[in-house]
Amino acid sequence: LWKSVPKGPPDAILGISEAFKRDKNPRKVNLGVGAYRDDSGKPVILPSVQKAKSLIIKSSDHEYLPIDGLAKFTQLATSLAYSNASPLKDHRVASIQSISGTGALRLGMAFIQRFYPHSRRVYIPNPTWGNHKTIIQHAGLEFQEYPYYDPVTKGLNIEAFLNEIDSAPKNSVFLLHACAHNPTGVDPSEDQWKQIQDVMARKQHLAVFDMAYQGFASGDVDKDAYAVRLFANEENPIIVMQSFAKNFGLYGERIGNLSVVCDSKQESDRVLSQLKILARPMYSNPPIYGSRIVSEVLGNEELKKQWLVDVKTMADRIISMRNALTTLLKEKGSLHDWSHITKQIGMFAYTGLHPEHCQELMDKHHIYLTMDGRISVAGLNQRNVEYVADAIETVTRF
Ligand code: PMP
Repeated sequence: LWKSVPKGPPDAILGISEAFKRDKNPRKVNLGVGAYRDDSGKPVILPSVQKAKSLIIKSSDHEYLPIDGLAKFTQLATSLAYSNASPLKDHRVASIQSISGTGALRLGMAFIQRFYPHSRRVYIPNPTWGNHKTIIQHAGLEFQEYPYYDPVTKGLNIEAFLNEIDSAPKNSVFLLHACAHNPTGVDPSEDQWKQIQDVMARKQHLAVFDMAYQGFASGDVDKDAYAVRLFANEENPIIVMQSFAKNFGLYGERIGNLSVVCDSKQESDRVLSQLKILARPMYSNPPIYGSRIVSEVLGNEELKKQWLVDVKTMADRIISMRNALTTLLKEKGSLHDWSHITKQIGMFAYTGLHPEHCQELMDKHHIYLTMDGRISVAGLNQRNVEYVADAIETVTRF
């Protein structure tokens, strides 16, 4: 029956993890997938999450959630993103629990496809997280890339970015990474965000914020929400997709939140009713466990305090590994400028390594990374960073 079904290619990122698993060399290092590891290379259960789990275990049944998820969760998640920005104070944000960040993006794109009257096209940064393109197409929309990263400076090409926002037709849709841009680790400064917000407002564009790393960029959840709150307070139209995979270490729980800023409470009720109609045939209702954990943490003052420490601990370890790698590369005598690694922010460093360097790192040194030269800095630790620096210095020697 399925003879004509061709074998599809493996997922670019998850395929690397599979190759890593097959490698029997004890020195192997996985810098491919963006999942946090502690200094011994192990996955982490955050102390705040551990405590929340022990608190909810007795009272947890296994009932269905409503289509829009756990009300306490969506309320706490939305205020984590918006704080006291005016749309939230006015009760005109429609929020629905989602299947992590990916599910929030998929549902948000479905909503745009069905209801956004002005455009079928979503502008995405070049480069961006690989799944954005497929999610957009899967929802029946099309994407167009906007200039973002400058390979020469290994930083933001703000002029070209602003020009593109300005020259796009009025009411276009722009997908923006709220913080810790994946894969480049290059974020606009607060001043640059103001410029971006200003042109977006003038052109009446819709901003779609992918917020998968709140707290992971700077270690400060408020600082990382700067752009979302700026746009919300300035009354730019926005949709926000949050993931709790990274900042709570709840990767497999699939816990996220989608919020749409509306003009009135009545409008947000109508929008929420349609989000529920879109979600129902896709997955009926979202998973319960992660939403219980997150609401237990964010709704309890002491646990929230602990969680803020937990997020900062992860962000700080990543920053210290950026510094260690850059210092070691210099010490090993590398003649390249690696300072971008410490300037970039969040889970990833966009090293500038070429595909042939990446291939050599995998084949000869058992170090796994994506072919665009992106490394997950969380995969580095005190035991492997020198080995990785040595290998990078070797493959990039003039
Ligand atoms: N957006 C970006 C930019 C990401 O990097 C990721 C995770 N790699 C996600 C969204 C979604 O992740 P998840 O579905 O696991 O929350």
